Amino acid sequence: MNRCEVCGKAADIHHIVHKSEGGLDFPLNYKYLCGEHHRGKHGPHRDNSIDIEYKLEFQYKLQQVLYKKYYGFDELIDMLELNKSKAKRILKGLKLYKEGYYTEDIIYKLMGSKKYEEYMMHEYKDFIPIFYSV
Ligand SMILES: [Zn+2]
Ligand SMILES: [Zn+2]
Repeated sequence: MNRCEVCGKAADIHHIVHKSEGGLDFPLNYKYLCGEHHRGKHGPHRDNSIDIEYKLEFQYKLQQVLYKKYYGFDELIDMLELNKSKAKRILKGLKLYKEGYYTEDIIYKLMGSKKYEEYMMHEYKDFIPIFYSV
Protein backbone atom coordinates (compact mmCIF):
# COMPACT_ATOMS: atom_id res chain seq x y z
CA MET A 1 0.00 0.00 0.00
CA ASN A 2 1.19 3.49 -0.81
CA ARG A 3 1.20 6.03 1.96
CA CYS A 4 0.42 9.72 1.82
CA GLU A 5 3.65 11.74 1.69
CA VAL A 6 2.08 14.36 3.95
CA CYS A 7 0.30 12.36 6.68
CA GLY A 8 0.99 8.65 6.12
CA LYS A 9 -2.59 7.50 5.44
CA ALA A 10 -3.47 5.23 2.52
CA ALA A 11 -2.77 7.12 -0.67
CA ASP A 12 -3.48 7.38 -4.38
CA ILE A 13 -1.15 8.54 -7.10
CA HIS A 14 -1.25 12.22 -7.91
CA HIS A 15 0.44 13.35 -11.14
CA ILE A 16 2.51 16.38 -10.16
CA VAL A 17 2.31 17.76 -13.66
CA HIS A 18 -1.30 16.82 -14.30
CA LYS A 19 -2.04 14.76 -17.37
CA SER A 20 -4.26 17.61 -18.60
CA GLU A 21 -1.17 19.84 -18.49
CA GLY A 22 0.85 17.39 -20.55
CA GLY A 23 2.26 15.47 -17.58
CA LEU A 24 3.44 11.94 -18.24
CA ASP A 25 2.64 8.75 -16.39
CA PHE A 26 6.05 7.80 -14.97
CA PRO A 27 7.32 7.35 -11.38
CA LEU A 28 9.14 10.66 -10.95
CA ASN A 29 5.92 12.52 -11.75
CA TYR A 30 4.04 10.70 -8.97
CA LYS A 31 3.23 12.03 -5.59
CA TYR A 32 1.36 9.77 -3.16
CA LEU A 33 -1.46 11.60 -1.43
CA CYS A 34 -4.46 10.54 0.67
CA GLY A 35 -7.94 11.72 -0.30
CA GLU A 36 -7.73 14.83 1.79
CA HIS A 37 -4.20 15.86 0.81
CA HIS A 38 -5.02 15.10 -2.81
CA ARG A 39 -8.43 16.61 -3.48
CA GLY A 40 -9.20 18.34 -0.22
CA LYS A 41 -8.94 22.02 0.59
CA HIS A 42 -5.18 21.80 1.12
CA GLY A 43 -4.46 19.53 -1.80
CA PRO A 44 -2.91 20.49 -5.14
CA HIS A 45 -6.20 20.32 -7.05
CA ARG A 46 -7.78 23.01 -4.90
CA ASP A 47 -4.85 25.03 -3.61
CA ASN A 48 -2.77 26.54 -6.36
CA SER A 49 0.20 27.43 -4.18
CA ILE A 50 0.48 23.77 -3.08
CA ASP A 51 0.19 22.69 -6.69
CA ILE A 52 3.04 25.01 -7.66
CA GLU A 53 5.08 23.95 -4.62
CA TYR A 54 4.93 20.28 -5.71
CA LYS A 55 5.82 21.27 -9.25
CA LEU A 56 8.84 23.25 -8.07
CA GLU A 57 9.96 20.22 -6.03
CA PHE A 58 9.57 18.01 -9.09
CA GLN A 59 11.41 20.45 -11.35
CA TYR A 60 14.24 20.59 -8.81
CA LYS A 61 14.33 16.79 -8.59
CA LEU A 62 14.60 16.59 -12.39
CA GLN A 63 17.50 19.05 -12.33
CA GLN A 64 19.25 16.78 -9.79
CA VAL A 65 18.60 13.55 -11.68
CA LEU A 66 19.49 15.00 -15.08
CA TYR A 67 22.75 16.58 -14.01
CA LYS A 68 24.46 16.47 -17.41
CA LYS A 69 23.94 19.12 -20.05
CA TYR A 70 22.82 16.69 -22.77
CA TYR A 71 21.22 13.26 -22.85
CA GLY A 72 20.78 10.60 -25.51
CA PHE A 73 17.58 8.62 -26.01
CA ASP A 74 18.69 5.44 -24.20
CA GLU A 75 20.31 7.34 -21.35
CA LEU A 76 17.07 9.22 -20.76
CA ILE A 77 15.12 5.97 -20.56
CA ASP A 78 17.52 4.77 -17.84
CA MET A 79 17.65 8.00 -15.87
CA LEU A 80 13.89 8.56 -15.78
CA GLU A 81 12.65 4.93 -15.78
CA LEU A 82 10.65 5.51 -18.92
CA ASN A 83 9.52 3.17 -21.63
CA LYS A 84 10.40 3.90 -25.25
CA SER A 85 7.06 5.36 -26.26
CA LYS A 86 7.07 7.83 -23.36
CA ALA A 87 10.65 8.82 -24.10
CA LYS A 88 9.64 9.43 -27.71
CA ARG A 89 6.74 11.60 -26.59
CA ILE A 90 9.07 13.73 -24.49
CA LEU A 91 11.71 14.12 -27.15
CA LYS A 92 9.29 14.74 -30.00
CA GLY A 93 9.93 18.20 -31.42
CA LEU A 94 13.08 18.76 -29.34
CA LYS A 95 16.24 19.69 -31.15
CA LEU A 96 18.86 16.95 -31.33
CA TYR A 97 22.37 18.35 -31.04
CA LYS A 98 25.44 16.31 -31.79
CA GLU A 99 25.93 15.83 -28.02
CA GLY A 100 22.31 14.72 -27.53
CA TYR A 101 19.12 16.42 -26.37
CA TYR A 102 19.57 19.56 -24.31
CA THR A 103 18.63 18.83 -20.67
CA GLU A 104 16.86 22.15 -20.16
CA ASP A 105 14.63 21.39 -23.15
CA ILE A 106 13.84 17.95 -21.72
CA ILE A 107 12.93 19.35 -18.31
CA TYR A 108 10.82 22.10 -19.84
CA LYS A 109 8.88 19.48 -21.78
CA LEU A 110 8.46 17.25 -18.71
CA MET A 111 7.02 20.21 -16.82
CA GLY A 112 4.26 20.50 -19.44
CA SER A 113 6.20 23.01 -21.57
CA LYS A 114 6.52 25.45 -18.72
CA LYS A 115 9.24 26.71 -16.43
CA TYR A 116 8.15 27.10 -12.82
CA GLU A 117 9.54 29.84 -10.56
CA GLU A 118 9.21 30.49 -6.83
CA TYR A 119 7.09 33.62 -7.25
CA MET A 120 4.35 31.58 -8.93
CA MET A 121 3.49 30.03 -5.58
CA HIS A 122 1.95 33.32 -4.49
CA GLU A 123 0.59 34.47 -7.80
CA TYR A 124 -2.88 32.92 -7.60
CA LYS A 125 -3.70 33.64 -3.98
CA ASP A 126 -6.46 36.17 -4.73
CA PHE A 127 -8.15 34.00 -7.31
CA ILE A 128 -10.78 31.33 -6.88
CA PRO A 129 -9.04 27.95 -7.07
CA ILE A 130 -9.22 26.22 -10.40
CA PHE A 131 -10.66 22.70 -10.34
CA TYR A 132 -8.83 20.24 -12.52
CA SER A 133 -10.32 17.08 -13.88
CA VAL A 134 -7.31 14.85 -13.16
ZN1 LIG B 1 -2.55 12.77 3.71
ZN1 LIG C 1 -4.09 14.47 -8.61
